[in-house]
Amino acid sequence: MAESEAYCNLRDLPVVGYTDRLHVFLRLSTNGMTSTLGLPELVPVPPNMSTTFAAASLLEAAEHIVPNVVVWRRHLHRHPEVAFEEVATSQFIHDTLGSLPGLHLTRPTATSVVAELRGGRPGPTIAVRADIDALPILEENDVEYRSTRDGAMHACGHDGHTAIVLGLASLLAPHAAVVPGTVRFIFQHAEEMAPGGAEELVQQGVMDGVSQVIGLHLWAPMPVGRIGILAGPAMAAPDQFQCTIVGKGGHAAIPHECVDPIAIGAQIITALQQVVTRTVDPLDPVVLSVTKFIAGTTFNVIPNSAHFAGTVRTFEPALRTSMPAQMERVIRGIAEAFGATVDFTYEHGYRPVVNDPALTDRLRAVVARTFAPDTLIDLRPTMGGEDFSAYQQRAPGVFAFVGAGNTDAGIVHPHHHPRFEIDERSLSLGLRYLTAATLELLSVR
Ligand SMILES: [Zn+2]
Ligand SMILES: [Zn+2]
Repeated sequence: MAESEAYCNLRDLPVVGYTDRLHVFLRLSTNGMTSTLGLPELVPVPPNMSTTFAAASLLEAAEHIVPNVVVWRRHLHRHPEVAFEEVATSQFIHDTLGSLPGLHLTRPTATSVVAELRGGRPGPTIAVRADIDALPILEENDVEYRSTRDGAMHACGHDGHTAIVLGLASLLAPHAAVVPGTVRFIFQHAEEMAPGGAEELVQQGVMDGVSQVIGLHLWAPMPVGRIGILAGPAMAAPDQFQCTIVGKGGHAAIPHECVDPIAIGAQIITALQQVVTRTVDPLDPVVLSVTKFIAGTTFNVIPNSAHFAGTVRTFEPALRTSMPAQMERVIRGIAEAFGATVDFTYEHGYRPVVNDPALTDRLRAVVARTFAPDTLIDLRPTMGGEDFSAYQQRAPGVFAFVGAGNTDAGIVHPHHHPRFEIDERSLSLGLRYLTAATLELLSVR
């Protein structure tokens, strides 16, 4: 059987089997993956791991789920699917969750999955979110589990997020009878492409009745073994713009009879940086990056038009609202001064990720008391964006960063790079953090 076929058949995949609610065995593989990954065929979880639904024993049990999390992550890494096309990915998630007891599964959209664990005891309804999509990148890593799809790669770590939340679901599901409340596991499609999957899922009602929501991002710029949780603004609003400058083409040797859109565009792009440095309060973070500038065909022709596009990142709502008009004033002013016209469009993307301060304090305290003293680190906000913010519009939420980088091991490439990689030990800490955070929200000690 071809490797891809083996992995596509869920029954051949490593599964979590339950002999009963109190005895858990992780069957890691009988189809050859075992030797490839160097994992034992069976990892028995000591019975006492799950005899009590208490934080300490569940965190210990989580460690025994980690080998499965690694296998799941590598499977997903081999078979990446980009935003809105996560057909096999969502089926894999659905089938994996379907093998667990006590979960109620739904498919709110074509490529998303929601699993609800309805506890047997009263308590809150909370949500745990994983994003599942990959990026249109050709992977350059030479690893055994490299992408088998040319032009698609899990280059942001969403394979790890998915595997971690599958691990959390498999850890908690056998305890449904004693779980105080409801845990909704959201496997969200299309984080990487606006308008994003999160808002779509919120519209489908996945946050209905949810009192708190948590999620994480494996974070390569941070060393493995560290967790960063910021109160307040954590990730920026990623907006985007496009602009076409229409001038008048002609011979390069007769520029005075033309309206050169390249020369005008160059001035506009330079002046846009002056919008940032001269019109915005320097204490309000903003990034304005022109990332595309297309014009012309050859050396002796001034083209009719030029096109540029880029992104604006902000935190402050008022600044975010004012940026399009400030940019347009400069763009039109320069274009008009030299006789060109412009077509400028500006699209708002995701809202900024803003962590609830009180919930952040609680979860920071959880990290401080659960993990080694140097685990929790101070982190600065990032100008990157995330549609986790859509859930935070409906309930207090906290989005944490779990370190995944390792300079000594050469795991140094940024997210969205063809050689992006994670230190897989981050999967363990990610799973244990989400376990501890979930239990905190359920008030389980
Ligand atoms: Zn990304
Ligand atoms: Zn991401």
